[in-house]
Amino acid sequence: MYQAFVGLEIHVQLLTKSKVFCGCRAAFGDEPNTNVCPVCMGYPGVLPTLNRQAIVQAYLVARALDCELSESAVFERKNYFYPDLPKNYQISQLGSPVGRNGRVDLDLGGSRRRVPIREVHLEEDAGKMIHAGDVSLLDYNRAGTPLLEIVTEPVLERGEEAELFLQYFRRMVRYLGVCDGNMEEGSLRCDANVSVNRPGKGLGSKVEIKNMNSSRFVKKALAFEIARQSGLLDRGAPVAQETRLWNENRDLTEAMRSKEEADDYRYFPEPDLPPFKPDAAFLLDVEKGLVELPSARRERLVAEYGLGPDQVDFIIDEKSRADFFERTVALGADPLAAASWLGSDVKRLLNREGVELAESPLTPERLAGLLVLLASGRIHGKIAKQVLEVLFAEGKDPETIIRERAWEQLIDAGAIAKLVDEAIDANEKAAAQIRAGDEKPVGFLVGEIMKATSGRAEPQLVRSVLKERLAKSR
Ligand SMILES: [Zn+2]
Repeated sequence: MYQAFVGLEIHVQLLTKSKVFCGCRAAFGDEPNTNVCPVCMGYPGVLPTLNRQAIVQAYLVARALDCELSESAVFERKNYFYPDLPKNYQISQLGSPVGRNGRVDLDLGGSRRRVPIREVHLEEDAGKMIHAGDVSLLDYNRAGTPLLEIVTEPVLERGEEAELFLQYFRRMVRYLGVCDGNMEEGSLRCDANVSVNRPGKGLGSKVEIKNMNSSRFVKKALAFEIARQSGLLDRGAPVAQETRLWNENRDLTEAMRSKEEADDYRYFPEPDLPPFKPDAAFLLDVEKGLVELPSARRERLVAEYGLGPDQVDFIIDEKSRADFFERTVALGADPLAAASWLGSDVKRLLNREGVELAESPLTPERLAGLLVLLASGRIHGKIAKQVLEVLFAEGKDPETIIRERAWEQLIDAGAIAKLVDEAIDANEKAAAQIRAGDEKPVGFLVGEIMKATSGRAEPQLVRSVLKERLAKSR
């Protein structure tokens, strides 16, 4: 038996308007090399300036991870040559990063695992190489966009735990509004270091794994790598300290290069940027950016509204969805009904139309309106589903829809009594059977009345009036 030690290095592309050290637009998908300037291309003599939005977001993430915030964050040059790095160095942080010694309490399906966060540091991203046939093309739009790196201590033991951590983390940065969390497009990237050793012997040789662009691949790659290293140790073979790539087509990791040590990068303080010293106004801005995080919100929604485990997981998965839910409840909807509609009929329509909740014609006001109509008995369940369909198609309020289509439920006892009498007259044989004590035809007569009213009559009321009428005349 071996013990595995897994640490994660997560890169987060911050959602800022401009790059971290110059004024170029930071955007995904623009025409190549249109968002560049002498600063991010590293021309001689230009001066970088720190983007306030980026450094606020960096401290915000560090704060949300319970880090000790740096009173003097230092930027350093990390020197290396790579074609997508036009300056031949990357501005990063080594000695005094934005935050250190944080933690996440991870919920592992019932048990809790504390994952210490070693550090959070801010750096600039490199450009992008695009390989097309025999040539490699370079797009520098991404060069200089703000990148936040979060490093955990190697305390995770299995691929599943790393997957859960990454899901937790992704949800957190989306709640904070600092990253869209899109792993396929690379705005959230994850590398892992893995070492395996006999229990009690501490860390083994460290292998870094790259190229895992979904949380599922993180789980698979780590399971593979833990098994691979265990197999080597079984045979008494050494585990090489190296960087390996996850090959998603072959479901295995492949050696890429031997791992550099920090010394190889010849870090030195960036002479053109002074250390960043947050003042009170800055720290206040950071505090203002803090929102109730998903785990806290999950607990509160269960306590406050009695949501079940699956319901609450669905509701809190997106901040916008949780906000939508709470607004709907505040407008008078029953919490369990609101959660259940959001997780079933609303979800189905959103999928069918291919739209997000926020872009759809459904608003908290409209959903609350619909659920109040349903709860007060003015419409019944089947009609409510139809109202939702029309709402999506025509973008109207539920009240307007039921008025225009005369879908309001018939709950007037007098009107129902009249319908019952007509049904009795038209179905004398069935009525006689009921009078004689045979209950079987009751369902048939109720059905006839429902048909005559296009389903608008309140079925329980119809049933009770019908029984009353036929009992009286016995
Ligand atoms: Zn620039």
